[in-house]
Amino acid sequence: MLKKILSRESCAKCRVCCGFDRDDVWEIPVVTAHTAEIIKQKVADCPELEAYEDGYRFVMHFDDEGMAYCPMLTENGCLLGDDKPFDCRVWPFRINRISDELLGITVSPVCDTVSALSISKLTSFINEKDDEGFSLTDRMVNYAKEHPYIIKPYVEDYPIIKLIRL
Ligand code: SF4
Repeated sequence: MLKKILSRESCAKCRVCCGFDRDDVWEIPVVTAHTAEIIKQKVADCPELEAYEDGYRFVMHFDDEGMAYCPMLTENGCLLGDDKPFDCRVWPFRINRISDELLGITVSPVCDTVSALSISKLTSFINEKDDEGFSLTDRMVNYAKEHPYIIKPYVEDYPIIKLIRL
């Protein structure tokens, strides 16, 4: 979904989005029941998944340095390939609750490649329609209607690039 601004090569070199510290627990990807089934079938050493809203979340085990890495992360990248969770497919973009009536599309400052782009370029990107007539904003809002768990709490240092009034 983000190929135009984030190449597979950049992601392969980095993988920062697949590691979490204790302040990032809200960023742990949530998978649908369907994806949880795929994981059970595809991954011999099936990771622990805990029920979370209408889906499941990976159980993370923090090391002595307070870091935990997603159990789907391998030397060759994400084991799930095209089946990776929606949260991961749209990262570093996030949909956050700003207030009861307001959502924001934000961008994680942790992704160096995307954070280096101007706000105007990011705004154009999230509003651009794809071949099926949907922008990234449309896809995130539509997914949030079906799976409200992708709406995350607002984090102050995440620049807001679009506001959505409910
Ligand atoms: S599911 Fe894949 S892309 Fe998402 S955090 Fe885990 S390893 Fe990374």
